[in-house]
Amino acid sequence: MTRRKLVAGNWKMNGSLACLDELDGIAAAAAESPGVDVAVAVPFTLIAPAAQRVPALMIGAEDVHEADSGAHTGCVSAGMVREAGARFAIVGHSERRADQGETSHDAWAKAAAARRHGLTVIACCGETEAERNADRAERVVQAQIEKSVPDHADGSWFTLAYEPRWAIGTGRTPTLEDIQSIHAIARAKLRMLVGDAADGIRILYGGSVTGDNAAGILSCPDVDGALVGGASLTAAKFVPIIRAAAAL
Ligand code: PEP
Repeated sequence: MTRRKLVAGNWKMNGSLACLDELDGIAAAAAESPGVDVAVAVPFTLIAPAAQRVPALMIGAEDVHEADSGAHTGCVSAGMVREAGARFAIVGHSERRADQGETSHDAWAKAAAARRHGLTVIACCGETEAERNADRAERVVQAQIEKSVPDHADGSWFTLAYEPRWAIGTGRTPTLEDIQSIHAIARAKLRMLVGDAADGIRILYGGSVTGDNAAGILSCPDVDGALVGGASLTAAKFVPIIRAAAAL
């Protein structure tokens, strides 16, 4: 099955109204790359202005709460981000797991909430450096997938992102063989959970993707795109990744 490449940015807690200029260049590159899906997750406060500024670009949220509404001070629901103009949400990012103690079960509940409100989902998994050094990367990722992927997941709304935590923001990446190997294991796990729908689910790689390493990473057979943090903050760094995907 052919899966369209998806290049998704994650601005994390970065950006301001002034930074939305960067989206113009990103949207232009996306328009020139019709074979690639391009998306950018921005802080909650920037969703509405970003979606209004570049309506053709998929703007998303970096997180959503699992409940639709209620007494959850400081939290933001999937319906709220949808109303603001978000079309997708990231769930289970490793920084939320590390900073907010989120679990794979939380990611599952947030994915379900996003789905209820018509958002597509990028659900993250990935091992720590200690887990990799202990030869536990495969088992950790399989367990995270098992706990976080909703039963009815399919490629029309669900994307998985494999992001080894030790590669995020460090400039270090696994070898291409290691990336392909974990992606193939992840797809096999998806197959056990959702059957043939696994063939349509995109699996992104995330962790220090740049314009220099994107072509190699995106050429791995089970890598269907990239989730990009630091290099998504400027068009100058993000556009080469979009172009690398478009050239495949
Ligand atoms: C991320 O946080 O999802 C990420 C991949 O970050 P970076 O590209 O900066 O490593």
